[in-house]
Amino acid sequence: MKIAVFDDCRIGVVNAGGIHDVSAALAAWQPNRPWMVNEFIERFDELRPAVLKLCDEVPIPLADVRLRAPVPRPINFLAAPLNYRAHQSEMTGVMSSGIDTAERLGFFVKAVGSISGPADAIELPNRPERRFDYEGEIAVVIGRRAAGVPAERALEHVFGYTLLLDMTMRMTEDHREERTMRKSFSTFSPMGPWITTHDEAGDPSALSLRLWVNGELRQTGALTDLIVNVPEMISRASAVLPLEAGDVYTTGSPAGVGQIVPGDVIEVESPSIGRMRVEVAARAW
Ligand code: MN
Repeated sequence: MKIAVFDDCRIGVVNAGGIHDVSAALAAWQPNRPWMVNEFIERFDELRPAVLKLCDEVPIPLADVRLRAPVPRPINFLAAPLNYRAHQSEMTGVMSSGIDTAERLGFFVKAVGSISGPADAIELPNRPERRFDYEGEIAVVIGRRAAGVPAERALEHVFGYTLLLDMTMRMTEDHREERTMRKSFSTFSPMGPWITTHDEAGDPSALSLRLWVNGELRQTGALTDLIVNVPEMISRASAVLPLEAGDVYTTGSPAGVGQIVPGDVIEVESPSIGRMRVEVAARAW
């Protein structure tokens, strides 16, 4: 199943005909309460019959809704640094050490407030001396609490997978801000277009993505190439703190990251998930 969030934080199921509004499956649902999506995800198994019943109605054409980030307000938003060998190689010289990867570094966090939706532009702040890069990634959405979970049971805690752009302001010799800050500007985490649930997505190592800038293919990645795979990511993070339903953990970027400027268009696609087209603009404030 493909789970989306749209308009005033309605919850939807996407199929070939369009999008079904299934918000009513959650009795407590109210408009513009983005954190309610976390409860929907946590109770999804119990809500599933009501969700499927609502899918009997005529769907709304996708063109008639505005898609939002499929998890607008996770409690924890984690990210894997340098989780592909080829990307690690291309970053050597930019990063402090060539041997640091997700294996040694674990996770970092991005501010939840940096999350934006597939219909929102990436807004670059006015810092002409700085370079802003895209990183195309597949993100894991947690389905139920994971505390101290061994890798062999980690996938039982996955709700599904979505696409994520981990936007970054690069360091320079003179500017050495914390990674969390450089990656947490407003709109620096476009997420979408929706979540493909784990039962439909299957083995996460079979997931792949491609990313284009202005129509030119820049990144091709497959989760088979991860240094720390999805079960290990979840297991290791859950040993640090409990992961909660709706938490987002992005798996890291394959090689081919590069600079973007206002006016560029980024497209990212995964066969099992979908496609997201995001424009790059200058921030107006
Ligand atoms: Mn990244």
